[in-house]
Amino acid sequence: MFSLNEFANMAGWHEVAHQWWGHAVGWESYRDAWISEGFAEFTAALVLNLIDSPKKYNDYLERRRREILEKPRGGSVVNNDAGPISQGFRLHTRYSPGASQTIIYSKGAYVVHMIRAMMRDPGSRNPDERFIAMMKDFLQSYSWKSASTDDFRKVVDRHMTPPMNAGETGTMEWFFNQWVHGTEVPRLRSTVIVEAATPGKFRLSGEVWQEGVSAGFRTVVPLYVDFGNDLVVPVGSIRVVGANRSKVEAELPLPRVPKRIVINAFHDVLARD
Ligand SMILES: [Zn+2]
Repeated sequence: MFSLNEFANMAGWHEVAHQWWGHAVGWESYRDAWISEGFAEFTAALVLNLIDSPKKYNDYLERRRREILEKPRGGSVVNNDAGPISQGFRLHTRYSPGASQTIIYSKGAYVVHMIRAMMRDPGSRNPDERFIAMMKDFLQSYSWKSASTDDFRKVVDRHMTPPMNAGETGTMEWFFNQWVHGTEVPRLRSTVIVEAATPGKFRLSGEVWQEGVSAGFRTVVPLYVDFGNDLVVPVGSIRVVGANRSKVEAELPLPRVPKRIVINAFHDVLARD
């Protein structure tokens, strides 16, 4: 649940964001309600990131993650197990009293955040350049129209990076099937370590895998170098499919001695503990 303080911080921006998501761009059916509510919720979190701090944004995502994966008071199923985002208000039943709000708003926002995370280019002057171009494209393509989830997916398709082609179909169908039309959430694991190789160079080695998902489930897992003192820098990503383990073998020039390698450091992918 939202704390009162968080609600006060977020509610205003959520409503402001509706002038784009909900008013300018409408939604086609109840299955697409997240295009209004999830997008407005994501935008409010992004404002928190810009006017407050990236830490607040990260904390916000952690609370949403817990909310998505918890069984609410008075309910008998975990919010996420009530059904996918595309089930819309039908997620609300006597067994899942808060699920439609949590899944449409919070998981909807998380899905937009995951797309942003995959599109980020840390080497660029504005790491969000691609994501911003995609959202502007969506706004321009669907202003004063009603968009469906598939319409939005096709816009994201136009702005994909090579790692986003994890389904190898040239589209983001794999992602939307998993996250908007599905309910699986992976548990991500890593044994990747970093050791000194030649002077100034470090060797990454180990495996990354996921648990608790079906055979075809795909995840683009981001890897980060943790230098300590809150300096955590992205170094790339690796694709994992189903329960298969993906090997990481790489040599990197690094400016200082790293502490360790971490995966999914900034809630890039919605995952279990
Ligand atoms: Zn709203």
